[in-house]
Amino acid sequence: MPIPDVVVVGGGVIGAASARALAIRGLSVSLIEPGPLRGAATDASAGLLAPLAEATEDDPMLSLKVRGRDHYADLVPSLEEETGIDLGYWTEGILNLAFTEDKAAELRHAVAWQRQLGFAAEWLVPEEVHDVASGTANDVLGASMVVEDGAIDPAALRAALLSSATFAGIRIRARERVTHLEIQDGHVQAVRTNKAPKRGIRCGAVVIAAGCWSGRISGLPRPLPVEPVRGQMIAVPWPTGEPRAVIYGAGAYTLHRAGEALVGATVERVGFSTGTTKSGADGLLRSVRTVFPSLTDATPTRKWAGLRPMTTDGQPLIGKDPEIPNLVYATGHGRAGIMMGSLTGDIVRDLVLQEELEYDLTPANPQRFWDS
Ligand SMILES: Cc1cc2nc3c(=O)[nH]c(=O)nc-3n(C[C@H](O)[C@H](O)[C@H](O)COP(=O)(O)OP(=O)(O)OC[C@H]3O[C@@H](n4cnc5c(N)ncnc54)[C@H](O)[C@@H]3O)c2cc1C
Repeated sequence: MPIPDVVVVGGGVIGAASARALAIRGLSVSLIEPGPLRGAATDASAGLLAPLAEATEDDPMLSLKVRGRDHYADLVPSLEEETGIDLGYWTEGILNLAFTEDKAAELRHAVAWQRQLGFAAEWLVPEEVHDVASGTANDVLGASMVVEDGAIDPAALRAALLSSATFAGIRIRARERVTHLEIQDGHVQAVRTNKAPKRGIRCGAVVIAAGCWSGRISGLPRPLPVEPVRGQMIAVPWPTGEPRAVIYGAGAYTLHRAGEALVGATVERVGFSTGTTKSGADGLLRSVRTVFPSLTDATPTRKWAGLRPMTTDGQPLIGKDPEIPNLVYATGHGRAGIMMGSLTGDIVRDLVLQEELEYDLTPANPQRFWDS
């Protein structure tokens, strides 16, 4: 069997995008993926491309997240054409509703600083909110509209990236799990798996993209500060006659996808537990009923949960190990892994090929956890 140039560990959005970007540049890539495992984040995700709707003014990742969102504008048409998969790409903006004076002040402030930075954000008065989303509650005090934020169907995106990567020649080692990295002479020489436990798979470089399980691979040269953070979601029927929209409000977000209102998401530190809870679903249901009073009698048609890979400072780990140059980390994307997925694939490619980076990766540099 030929020695693969690169082994990608994990087939979520980050591993899939990385494998595709590397294969398109002619590298031989093996992607190793056991499941996806129960709780894998990508397919559980809402898929909001919302760097501004979720932004804080001091977020050091803001410009990378905006670039991540904008990366999809070029990718989506070509990926849909190549694979025939509808990516459910939404580019008509995101509303954020205010039901209290405090929230209205916070959102007005966000509109002001975002406009100052040159982003397209607007404050809508209640009549304007109802022009866009006619079924939203009458007691709304106004809303911000972030014109360029959007959404994408994450499961479709992952499937399309894997399909395209396969056309580009990657080998998917399905139902296989990386157990150990063999490091000698300052380089990863091979990865061992449950199916290749002794000799392992020799490789020229390894990309760690195993989501919240990234730190569980033995032989890593240092501990990875990535932990699971559970997010629960529910689906209810989309309100009859209501135009499609993506709306934050009353402590949750609601987006239209395929006739359903997807409502998310809880943020819970409960280890690797992937179950849903009554209190989690009830909270989301309360929020969506506040936003759309016509859903007062609606009950969830589906409930699910996924595990976000979250670092201790909330920013991702994208970069090379400080001492093992052929070991690349691409994990810990927390709440922004879909938004950052495609861009991260290109960054990983540039890191592996040692090309000059177009981006300032400082806020994502893994080294920040190991300086001292
Ligand atoms: C409810 C919810 C809502 C979200 N909403 C959004 C959103 O709106 N917008 C946004 O940008 N992000 C959102 N996120 C976050 C986003 O989903 C994640 O950041 C992203 O999917 C992480 O992708 P990943 O590839 O790193 O991890 P995952 O998708 O978890 O993939 C990791 C993969 O690694 C595999 N794996 C594990 N161990 C091994 C091993 N030893 N060997 C090989 N493979 C292994 C797993 O099976 C899995 O398939 C949400 C997440 C959740 C849970």
